[in-house]
Amino acid sequence: MDLFDYADEFGPTKIIHIYEPSVGLKGILVVDNVAMGPSIGGVRIAPDVSVDECFRLARAMTFKNAAAGLPHGGGKMVIYGDPKMPKERKQQLMRAAAASLRNEESYIFGPDMGTNEECMAWVRDEIGRSVGLPRELGGIPLDEIGATGWGLLHATEAALHYLNSSLTNAKVVIQGFGSVGKHAARFLAERGAKIIAANDSRGTTFNPQGLDIAALFKLKEAGKSVADYPEGQRLERDEIVDIECDIWIPAARPDVINENNVHRLKTRLIVEGANIPITHGAEKMLFEKGVLCIPDFIANAGGVICAAMEYHGATAASASETIEEKISHNTEKLLSIVRAKNILPREAAIQMAAERINKAMSLRRWSLFSSAPHFI
Ligand code: NAD
Repeated sequence: MDLFDYADEFGPTKIIHIYEPSVGLKGILVVDNVAMGPSIGGVRIAPDVSVDECFRLARAMTFKNAAAGLPHGGGKMVIYGDPKMPKERKQQLMRAAAASLRNEESYIFGPDMGTNEECMAWVRDEIGRSVGLPRELGGIPLDEIGATGWGLLHATEAALHYLNSSLTNAKVVIQGFGSVGKHAARFLAERGAKIIAANDSRGTTFNPQGLDIAALFKLKEAGKSVADYPEGQRLERDEIVDIECDIWIPAARPDVINENNVHRLKTRLIVEGANIPITHGAEKMLFEKGVLCIPDFIANAGGVICAAMEYHGATAASASETIEEKISHNTEKLLSIVRAKNILPREAAIQMAAERINKAMSLRRWSLFSSAPHFI
């Protein structure tokens, strides 16, 4: 597969393979559509992400940034390796990756799985082009304040409003207790929801009476798994799919819900914290069953809204306000389209984003010179 196998009306504009033999760096950068502005997207450190997955993640960023009304296109980068590698090694790879993309100004580095604020500081030190920086460097530490979890809260509240329901005592299950999942759990619990199960890569904890979120934070800080929570029933990692609840939040990996396991979910509402956690086919099946599914690039845009605000000089307080306002508004708008047209929420979300991208593309200098696009 090469770039032209993916080419459609939006992109991708570039796929760059990076190889630096002196340090054993291997990576991929996909820059998708940049009509709205230079792309922002996370750098993921993982052993197993394909070009295809990287492209799909970049496309999700194009839609996410456009849907959120940010002056940025979508990109995504993968560095191959163990996300838990020693810090010194991570620094070496991050710095080498940044240096190799020094002149690739269509991409602004951001944090993602396996990378954090410190990694962004190293990139900034090398080439001056990253977001999600530590506070000391003028950053708004989005994982520390839980920017994406904050956005998920507001997407969930807007969706519950649409369903004539509320968060009070709503039973919530969280898959993945990392930067996204743990803060979503915290904010939802603060608003009266009952988090009855959570998991991480090592297992699941379940207690129908509700979990103590502060205790789970402490376990993770101590390097343990949420499955070690003493007041919960310990289950296998993937048994989390079977737990009956009102709201199910995937905040771990792509494609965790697919055509083979979607029938096991017993919930009314899914709010996608992770990127592309549910395959298209499975989302369709959920829609047909009447399960409302708020798509990733609407629900989890809190992190990138925060990052873009940081890039343009905003404070943490104004970023939080903007996340609340944009995500509540976008979720409501999305659901009004779903109601009016009876289409999949993802299709409605893509329509919202595509409208903005097409407008931006029509304003590009060279679009003056032809009346119709020429596709390959
Ligand atoms: P993270 O690395 O901080 O946390 C991931 C969590 O998922 C960890 O607890 C890990 O143990 C767990 N996990 C891994 N594989 C699992 C599996 N198969 N089943 C259950 N748990 C598993 O990552 P994060 O930053 O929280 O990101 C999670 C997802 O959200 C990713 O898809 C990421 O792209 C997406 N996302 C993150 C942000 C952000 O602000 N960090 C923003 C938007 C989207």
